[in-house]
Amino acid sequence: MQQYIIGNWKMNGTKGEAQRLAAGFLKRIQEATRPLPHIVLCPSYPYLTSVIEILKDSPIEVGGQDCHPEKSGAFTGDVSVSQLVDVGCKYVIIGHSERRRYHHESSPVIRKKVESAIKAGLRPILCVGESVEERKTGKALYIVSSQLISDLPDSFAPHELLVAYEPLWAIGTGHAPTTDEVEEVMGLMKHVLSSRVTGGAIIPTLYGGSVNAQNASDLLNLPHVDGLLVGGSSLKLDEFWEIINASQR
Ligand code: PEP
Repeated sequence: MQQYIIGNWKMNGTKGEAQRLAAGFLKRIQEATRPLPHIVLCPSYPYLTSVIEILKDSPIEVGGQDCHPEKSGAFTGDVSVSQLVDVGCKYVIIGHSERRRYHHESSPVIRKKVESAIKAGLRPILCVGESVEERKTGKALYIVSSQLISDLPDSFAPHELLVAYEPLWAIGTGHAPTTDEVEEVMGLMKHVLSSRVTGGAIIPTLYGGSVNAQNASDLLNLPHVDGLLVGGSSLKLDEFWEIINASQR
């Protein structure tokens, strides 16, 4: 399976910086001499259109950082899945821990967002992961498998979504888990996910949390890691390019 490298730019930068980054990645892609993984960039909403315009004839795809579950209506400040599709997005991050924490998003809402995105033809990148307290008290595996059960719709096809393991204590902290810790959780994720689809088809699973040019290769070499969700390092052209080049498949 070709690996996935997703850049989550979060609420950072200016329009000019977003355009420069997109143009920079485009140039590197055009000059690339080896097969590349799937690459998806997720800028802030106001910059989606200009980034999509720059990348329109390239293999780099673009995603939103969140969406509202309803099609349209009186939801000031929100963005619907059909609006993301309309501007050219192919992916959407759903259930990021920063949405769960700062916007109090719970499993029923996240599940509805995943359902709406799939229905609209967007590929959700569902994020799951445990807090530091949950890890310290030995609950990491329980939390991640519970989230997978409660946040996913009853039925979906394996190619319709991606799932990212993002331990909260690793996001933006510079403290990535050990490769053994990542494998333990992601092995369980694969097991839980395979029981949700018929025929043993594989749902791609990504790791996210303090990924950088130094640890990307070890992470991407792990058997249950099909790609990376990258925050801070995806805002640095050279570093993100090194991460992309660390992909194995
Ligand atoms: C993220 O925002 O999803 C993330 C993984 O951030 P960082 O890579 O900065 O830890």
